[in-house]
Order: sequence, then C-alpha cells, then structure tokens
Amino acid sequence: MELKPFENKIWLASPTMHGDEIRYVQEAYETNWMSTVGANINVIEQMAAEKVGCKYAVALSCGTAALHLAMKLAGVKPGDKVFCSDVTFAATVNPIVYEKAIPVFIDTERDTWNMDPVALEKAFQLHPEVKVVVIVHLYGTPAKMDELKAVCDRYGAVIVEDAAESFGATYKGIQTGKFGAYNCISFNGNKIITGSSGGMLLTDDLDAANKARKWSTQSRENAPWYQHEETGYNYRMSNVIAGVVRGQIPYLEAHIAQKRAIYERYQEGFKDLPVTMNPYDAVNSVPNFWLSCLLIHEDAMCPQVLGENKALYREEKGKSCPTQILETLASYNAEGRPIWKPMHMQPIYRMHDFVTTEGDGRGRSNAYIPGSGEDVGLDIFNRGLCLPSDNKMTPEEQSQIIEIVKNCFA
Ligand SMILES: *Cc1c(COP(=O)(O)O)cnc(C)c1O
Repeated sequence: MELKPFENKIWLASPTMHGDEIRYVQEAYETNWMSTVGANINVIEQMAAEKVGCKYAVALSCGTAALHLAMKLAGVKPGDKVFCSDVTFAATVNPIVYEKAIPVFIDTERDTWNMDPVALEKAFQLHPEVKVVVIVHLYGTPAKMDELKAVCDRYGAVIVEDAAESFGATYKGIQTGKFGAYNCISFNGNKIITGSSGGMLLTDDLDAANKARKWSTQSRENAPWYQHEETGYNYRMSNVIAGVVRGQIPYLEAHIAQKRAIYERYQEGFKDLPVTMNPYDAVNSVPNFWLSCLLIHEDAMCPQVLGENKALYREEKGKSCPTQILETLASYNAEGRPIWKPMHMQPIYRMHDFVTTEGDGRGRSNAYIPGSGEDVGLDIFNRGLCLPSDNKMTPEEQSQIIEIVKNCFA
C-alpha cells in the first residue's frame, strides 16, 4: 500500500451531526426559547434519565459543572481528602479542588485501565475517614464497579461516577452513570455524542436534583425578589445547546456501533504487532469504545524519554514508542493523542498522596521511589497512546492508519 498524507485530516474524535440537531435548534430560535428554559432541556433530561436508568437528570453547561455540584451534594468540605482515579482528564479532579478539598490519587489496574480496587482498599486503610470516591470509566470502558463499590460500602463512602467518556457503556447490564450517588456525563465536542458543549448530573435523589437545579441557576430562593441564602452558580444548560443534544441522543447507539467497529478493525489489524488494545472485561461489561488505544509490549519499546514539556525517542529496528507513532501519524495528517498523563505526575499535584497496590502506599509523585510499588498509571502513560477514533473515518482510511503504525515497528 502506498502511503500518502490524508487530504482531509483524520481526527481523534470529532462531532458527528445528523441533521436533526439543527431542527431542534431552529425550533428554539423560532419559539424564542433561547435561554436556559425550554422544551429541549426538558426532553433531554427525560431521555438521559431513561437511558441511564436514573430517576433524575439535570442539564448543565458542562460535565465539569456536574462534577462540581456532585462534590457539593456529596458534602465535600475544605480540607477533606477525596479519593480519585489517577489516569484521567484534569476535569475529574478540578471540582475537588474548587471545594478546597484534597485529591488523593488511586493507582490503575491493568484489566480496564481504571481505579484499582486493591489500591482503593489500601487507601482506606491509610485514610479511613474519607467519605467520597470519584471513579472514572476511562475512554468509555467501565471500571470494576462491583469490587470498587464493595470497598466503598465497607467504609461508608459515597461514589461519584465520572461517566463523561462512557455514556451508553454498561457494566453487568447496568448503564455507567447509574452506580454512584451523583454522577456526571458530558456532551463536550469530542465525546460519543455532543451538544458542542454541555453535561448532566444524574441521581436517584429528588432532593439532590432540586438542589443542583437551584445552585445551577444562581441559587434564587422562592421570593418575589432576588433572595439568596446560598452561593449560586451559572451552570444551567442553554435550550439551544439542548437542541443539539436532543438531535444527537437518538444516534448514541449508532455511534457506539461505529466506535466498536473501529476498535475491532484495529484489534484485527494489529494482531501481528507487539501491542495490545485498551482492555475491557468482555464478560461483565460493554464499553462504548469512545477511543481506541494501544499499549506497546515492554520489549518492543524503543528508548523514549518523556520530560516535563517535551518527548524524545531513538528509533530502533523492530521497535517503536508512543512518541514515534504520534509524530508519524501527525506527519500523515492524522490525530492521535497520548494517554491522559496521570494526575500524580502533574506538577500541580506533586505533593499529593498516590496510593498503589504495593509499597507503603504513600508514593508521592515527586518522591516516588521506583520499586517501592508498581506505578501502573505511569507505565500505561509511557507505553500507551490513543489512536484516531473518529466515527467518520472510512475503513480504507483506517487501513492506512494501521499500515502507518505497522511501519513504525519495521
Ligand atoms: C470530558 C471530560 C470531563 C468534563 O466534561 P466537560 O463537559 O468537558 O466539562 C470530565 N471527565 C472526563 C474523564 C472527561 O473526559
């Protein structure tokens, strides 16, 4: 196959519109419901609640806002420690910090790349007073919810699910976003479906849903004037954005099917390479396959150094590394992405506790002693990458991506 740069860029994950979105946006315009009230909002709250199986959904400006209100609903207070997935987007952690609480990062397991239940148990032994655990379903792959929930129940802690990346994914037949007390999904532009922006808080607790609604609209009390007893936020979703989401929700399952086909084509295409795909529990879970990722075998890694702001590698025959693959993809006009850099490796969190399954469980990122316990997140960050996973990519284009990656190992 002759490889030429793609004429049209192959994106990691770009919005895929279907035509219905503009109809609902138009409707909002024509009926002049252009603000944070309207039929689109009401309809999508009901659709999302039904899809996930939660009693209530509150439409918000973004998933981060939903996580922030979740922190408040869970009663997180300044100085509290909150357990949190380590390999994730910063948006998972920021809301903990907004409330002046202290995130403690829990290492990752290798079966689904999510929070390790064994490390979580260890974290509770170190900090039994912790009351809130934020669990991510990375790249659309459900975490080990039974094991994680059992640990949380034992210590009386509340789960907040960050299902921003996993809308439509199931664990033992139950939708992600249904397991925690207060959960978040996102309609950000590169998620499985999008409103261009937007998010939702999901809960079975009517009182919590009402509070979130009130807080998200500047916490107005029921009075003839602007009366306030609590801090408020401007977090409500616009009815225009809700129109886009309303047009997208019916295509969620179609998008998942496309993403799954992409994952499976990669899996087949790479079967002779020294790599594996991002893993999932095929018996107990059905991911939404939002992003397809690769993990390079240890003995097929060429030398690679990841500094604070740049990456270096040295080519070696028969070997490659994420930096080489990402740079090569970019040279062909295709977009890949590094794995989320673990939170415990981020300069901003360098003094925070990071609990692994081994060692004394107090591996701080700047004082992490190699060998004091396996750092799974760091390993996945070093050897992994996200592949172009756009659901408008054709099988022919994907075949070319596969060839480009194979050539990196030549
Ligand atoms: C996208 C994302 C969020 C935040 O969602 P926004 O709608 O962009 O605020 C939170 N957590 C994770 C894991 C995400 O990928």
